Amino acid sequence: MSIIKKIKSTIGLLQQLDLDKIGKLSEKVDLNKMVGLVSSMKGEDLQKLMKFMEGGKKKHEFPEIDGDFYDLHQWLSPEERAIQLKVREFMQVHIKPIANEYWLKDEFPHHIIPEMAKLNICGLTYHGYGCPGMSSLLEGFLAMEMARVDCSTSTFFGVQSGLAMGSIYYCGSEEQKQQWLPRMQKMELIGAFGLTEPEVGSAAAGGLTCTCERVGDTWVLNGQKKWIGNATFADLVVIWARDIADNSVKGFIVEKGTKGFQADKIKGKMALRIVQNALITLTNCEVHESNRLQQANSFKDTAQVLRMTRAGVAWQAVGCARGAYESALRYTNERKQFGRTISSFQMVQDLLVEMLSNLTAMQTMVCRLSQLQDAGKLTDEQASLAKVFCSLHTRDIVSHARELFGGNGILIEYDIARFVADAEAIYSYEGTKEINTLIVGRAITGQSAFV
Ligand SMILES: Cc1cc2nc3c(=O)[nH]c(=O)nc-3n(C[C@H](O)[C@H](O)[C@H](O)COP(=O)(O)OP(=O)(O)OC[C@H]3O[C@@H](n4cnc5c(N)ncnc54)[C@H](O)[C@@H]3O)c2cc1C
Repeated sequence: MSIIKKIKSTIGLLQQLDLDKIGKLSEKVDLNKMVGLVSSMKGEDLQKLMKFMEGGKKKHEFPEIDGDFYDLHQWLSPEERAIQLKVREFMQVHIKPIANEYWLKDEFPHHIIPEMAKLNICGLTYHGYGCPGMSSLLEGFLAMEMARVDCSTSTFFGVQSGLAMGSIYYCGSEEQKQQWLPRMQKMELIGAFGLTEPEVGSAAAGGLTCTCERVGDTWVLNGQKKWIGNATFADLVVIWARDIADNSVKGFIVEKGTKGFQADKIKGKMALRIVQNALITLTNCEVHESNRLQQANSFKDTAQVLRMTRAGVAWQAVGCARGAYESALRYTNERKQFGRTISSFQMVQDLLVEMLSNLTAMQTMVCRLSQLQDAGKLTDEQASLAKVFCSLHTRDIVSHARELFGGNGILIEYDIARFVADAEAIYSYEGTKEINTLIVGRAITGQSAFV
């Protein structure tokens, strides 16, 4: 470059400089010295310095999102933890991509059943009959993992593994267990559990109107059952009915295709839309004595199944809350307003921490509940207290999470709307808040306030 060109280019550069700023800079540092130092720096160091001065800070890295804030999974053995992670992967790979689609369609994705069966987690806590015989604590963690992605999937599984298989495991004869449980464990047979009736929900313990009558070696069932999950396609439905001879409650395995059994899909649900609930009508439905649950002699036996599944629903509530909390935290880390991520705002952090506090309390509670269950010490009132506490706080957590999504919170594609809706069903089934509260109230005061 000629000397004239060099002078012209230097003048051009000087003209671009803000002389006011240079003046201010020279009051703070020795400008000549600074230019000397800077000009002797390596190009890449200079660029790093520029980047630092431009942004002031390196790109913010968000901490890993994990709703298990107290590392409660450490209560699981390494083998159990591996199963938890396997189920987590299953949910991410097979359920997450289709959950919203099937929820909107109000349909069940039957193709997932063989994949789910491969997990070998059905009838997890039962011993024998092909069942793994593992801990209730792990079972709880798995219910939570499923609901964390999709509550319908965990409900479908809970009905199969808990309510249906549990009825046979706890109330069936040895022969009946041998006959049904191994194939249910492999998910070759899908089950359902029919207790609730159109006119009898909370009062099921003493008020079933569905009847059974023995005629020789056959039982004749009449009546209706409402809300029965999986029943539109189940291979067998456990039906609870009142014996007209002595008023006692009995359980029956009613097989698909039995004459007088009709299951109509309940349409128009606003929650757990993937679960196929049915209104069952039994019209002189004949069931052989060999399909009567031989160890079910009163509602106390039904309650034994419900105690176990109620604990599972408490875990499910935890999963729903955890999924919502984690989605909200992720979203608030991504969403920017006023030039900043919304998770940097104090009021947003306040809401997130409140959600995490309740979530952590819930998780700790259900872990202890399962430990009691594993020790064979779980009482009805302990299961009820956890169900009330967890489903109540889940409702709050999902609603806070939705709030943090702003308008997007009502769009199905952001998942959170599904959690909000599904939390409503969890809140009401397996005993409403009022009924579970009354169970705990009776235990602590010694006085029944049911009626
Ligand atoms: C999505 C879904 C899936 C379900 N799946 C199944 C299933 O697979 N199998 C099955 O058998 N059932 C199932 N259910 C039924 C469920 O268990 C019942 O809905 C639940 O027990 C409540 O009964 P209910 O709906 O008849 O309400 P009700 O009993 O009519 O209660 C209505 C309201 O009155 C309150 N109430 C009632 N009695 C009292 C009282 N003594 N004191 C104070 N308040 C009271 C309740 O708490 C509630 O708020 C399912 C329900 C839903 C929503």
